[in-house]
Amino acid sequence: MSGQRATPDHNDLNVVHAKALVTVADTGHVRRGNTQGDIGIIEDGAVAVRDGVIVAVGTTAEIVADWSDPAVPTLDAAGMTVMPGLVECHSHPLFGGERHDEYAERLGGASLAEVAARGGGIWASVVATREATDDELLANMSSAFDRMTRGGVTTAEVKSGYGLTIDDELHQLELLEQTRTMTPMELIITFLGAHVIPRDIGDAADAADTAGTDAADADPGQVYTDLVGGPMTDAVLAQGIAQFQDVTVEDGLFTPDQALGIMARSHELGLTTRVHADAWKPSLGWQTAVEGGAISAEHLTYTPDDEIDRVGTTDTVAVLLPVAELIYMTDRRANANKFIDNDVPVAISTDYCSSIHATSLLSTMTMASPWFRITPAQAIVACTLNAAYSLGVADRCGSLDVGKRGDLLVLDCPHPNELFLGLADDMLDSVVIGGNLLPFSKHARH
Ligand SMILES: [Zn+2]
Repeated sequence: MSGQRATPDHNDLNVVHAKALVTVADTGHVRRGNTQGDIGIIEDGAVAVRDGVIVAVGTTAEIVADWSDPAVPTLDAAGMTVMPGLVECHSHPLFGGERHDEYAERLGGASLAEVAARGGGIWASVVATREATDDELLANMSSAFDRMTRGGVTTAEVKSGYGLTIDDELHQLELLEQTRTMTPMELIITFLGAHVIPRDIGDAADAADTAGTDAADADPGQVYTDLVGGPMTDAVLAQGIAQFQDVTVEDGLFTPDQALGIMARSHELGLTTRVHADAWKPSLGWQTAVEGGAISAEHLTYTPDDEIDRVGTTDTVAVLLPVAELIYMTDRRANANKFIDNDVPVAISTDYCSSIHATSLLSTMTMASPWFRITPAQAIVACTLNAAYSLGVADRCGSLDVGKRGDLLVLDCPHPNELFLGLADDMLDSVVIGGNLLPFSKHARH
């Protein structure tokens, strides 16, 4: 299932004597409503991993009785918390250029519109990414992936979306595929052609020969929608790398109808969709994602409460991005409790991208609790099992269960709640992926 990842040397491991072993045991369903915070803690817990896969979870007494083996390394987690490796379900690591000036301008009082008028925003990243060399992009991603694992991430979704022509998007997906060998994390690759409307859409449409002679007169948004939903999706399917298609629903970018058209075509061809929804304004993004059958809708900062109530319960996972709201200085936060009250599964992610350089999902998780006023346990489920469900990979990660990959974190605190009293990165002792202790782990140096 992950043969292309950087392969570990040692993938047998016994972890014993965890003061708190947080299993987030998978019951076969995404967590929602009053189960959003079910984490399950085994005191003096232990896990046995063989050939990279969890073979037993229980108390230390049970695991030692059945799985002791002098040939297998043992990690003594006495006094510590052990929990599933974190699942990053929304990131854009492939970009060129720098946007720190824009953020400084905004902190100095400039509006988003003023920054965009000076040439900033996502379009600036598209231009810089197209101009960057492959080596630069790969080196940036390698370094970002290293930081992500140091922030507790063991599985990560990575999006294209700074190309916005058929050739550029295919090339970015190819580069993302190449990065599989650069990290022990499992990567889930998402095609995000419908990120923004490219400012040079006339040229792109002509190049694809889809807009014909009317290109100059047509609405650029519709011309680009037709390109993404038609030949670009076809080319992405033919290439065979993308595991999801992500579509933006946002006032001023893609309308609900345009997004539904792209999603329907994507589903027809067998490519499941995710949605960027309501990041900047109420745009009917949440309703559209659910109507269109998306596996997840992400951001949801401006989704109105009455829309959440109207849509009600759904399997579509609400992926919330607290650091994006912090950095964008939005005047509203996603209403996590409203989603939870409506039995909507909630996940949380960093939104690492050209304008948000948060790579630690561990610190994002601990920040999410006070940000959204959700409990530590609800935030832990949001960054593990529910994130795994939002990526369709809950069969192999997101919890400590027999049969799943041996991905886990060792944290220097006796109870997971203690992580939430700070930003937690300084408590991260060790990261294990597929039974392999990553080299920066403190336990690897013992
Ligand atoms: Zn995003």
